[in-house]
Amino acid sequence: MSEVIIRIRGLNKWFGKLQVLREVNLEVAAGEKVVIVGPSGSGKSTLIRCINRLEDFQQGEVIVDGISLSSARNLEAVRREVGMVFQQFNLFPHMTVLENVALAPQKVRGWPRAKAEQKAVELLERVGIADQAHKHPGQLSGGQQQRVAIARALAMEPKIMLFDEPTSALDPEMVGEVLDVMRDLARGGMTMLVVTHEMGFAKEVADRVVVMDQGQILEQAPPEVIFQNPTHERTRSFLQRVL
Ligand code: ADP
Ligand code: MG
Repeated sequence: MSEVIIRIRGLNKWFGKLQVLREVNLEVAAGEKVVIVGPSGSGKSTLIRCINRLEDFQQGEVIVDGISLSSARNLEAVRREVGMVFQQFNLFPHMTVLENVALAPQKVRGWPRAKAEQKAVELLERVGIADQAHKHPGQLSGGQQQRVAIARALAMEPKIMLFDEPTSALDPEMVGEVLDVMRDLARGGMTMLVVTHEMGFAKEVADRVVVMDQGQILEQAPPEVIFQNPTHERTRSFLQRVL
């Protein structure tokens, strides 16, 4: 059994009076691939945003690679270890693709520009768009932009990658190229938490599928169990709607 790299205990979160996470307990082992599914509004984004503290929380404990997120002092340390990819790519429009990928290592890790750009070129090769390095994001397709966003997150050499519906904003013909990059990352041993409605990806890549409903983890199990023999009727009816 690998070491636990993410440990969430008794996590409760409210937006004002609305409770959006209820007693969430989740442990993720180093190298594990966890896919999170569930209806819109069930708290999937909020949960993964708590893992890099993009969201604050009121109760419970989130420990990432031994670093407790309860202390504001630890935020920088955690954000260095956790990369995130969003539905909207959030690239800097006024910078080239290369500059987008090379920026954070210079700012956060203090790398010299040449070193950061060399690493950026390697990452752009890895996601298959080195030939677009000197373009601006607006000149790229959505699928290409999302691959740049993945390269940008990887530039910080994170131990954990969080994906929040990374293919939901893409035209259907571009979904595959982004999932291919994610599969490649999974094969390389990255710890991954992925919120997605791509059930084919979940079946193929996930070690475990976590089903969320109304701020709670309804159930979690390997994909073959969730897809063929879920415990809860609500899981069954959710899957019927998305499959
Ligand atoms: P999901 O990703 O599963 O669709 P979210 O985590 O985005 O769910 O949202 C969970 C609940 O929290 C929803 O009811 C949503 O409206 C609410 N919510 C999300 N973000 C905010 C926010 N910044 N302020 C207030 N309510 C929010
Ligand atoms: Mg969401």
